[in-house]
Amino acid sequence: MAILEIKDLHVRIEDKEILKGVTLTINTNEIHAIMGPNGTGKSTLAAAIMGHPKYEVTSGSILLDGEDVLAMEVDERARAGLFLAMQYPSEITGVTNADFLRSGVNARREEGDEISLMKFIREMDSKMEVLEMEEDMATRYLNEGFSGGEKKRNEILQLMMLKPKFAVLDEIDSGLDIDALKIVSKGINQMRGEGFGCLIITHYQRLLDYITPDHVHIIMQGKIVKTGGPELAKKLEEQGYDWIKEELGIED
Ligand code: ADP
Ligand code: MG
Ligand code: MG
Repeated sequence: MAILEIKDLHVRIEDKEILKGVTLTINTNEIHAIMGPNGTGKSTLAAAIMGHPKYEVTSGSILLDGEDVLAMEVDERARAGLFLAMQYPSEITGVTNADFLRSGVNARREEGDEISLMKFIREMDSKMEVLEMEEDMATRYLNEGFSGGEKKRNEILQLMMLKPKFAVLDEIDSGLDIDALKIVSKGINQMRGEGFGCLIITHYQRLLDYITPDHVHIIMQGKIVKTGGPELAKKLEEQGYDWIKEELGIED
């Protein structure tokens, strides 16, 4: 079992405080969803966990099994077992998707214990099948000319191959049609279990019809203002965010 603890996290971007004390604990074998209106700091939380240089943590802590994540470089965070799927994955020209994946897998293994090419290909093929990906997706350059849906599936392929302890998935559902959404959800559901915990950030409830979260958190104005089970996401879908604002006396 592993544990990711975010404690009273304050994050600033260019002199503006965006996160104002976020506290959240995720264990492996748990899926947490974070929902909230636009501009409330959801992506900022994801970026701070992964160490995006533009986001300055002014106080609070992030611990992975007691280790100080904030003291780690970005690549160290990945090696420690964190995975971030970004809202806008970037292109890398000249590197095939399969090569990129294999170097990612090997970067997490000890030197001299690299995965064999055969084993890698077998595993990649089986996961690509789950995700209903075209075969040529392996030999194409990373993200170059990938459609929105292909990029998202490919991120889930990375997730399934890298097998992180914790994944932060920021709007993995944006721009997906319903079939792609189901396939992406299938991949994430396959990851569920003992060694894997997940933070799903989403603006809409739709994704959570396919991936039932254990815990749902609502973030507003830089703070988690409410936590519940899957029913909380359903209520948001039906009633929007106004009732929470009223309940908490938040002004727009
Ligand atoms: P969400 O993901 O919940 O929609 P974000 O975390 O992206 O919200 O943004 C929170 C706030 O921070 C917004 O007011 C946004 O305008 C601001 N912000 C985000 N990124 C930057 C940036 N790179 N520079 C300046 N302001 C930013
Ligand atoms: Mg719990
Ligand atoms: Mg966002």
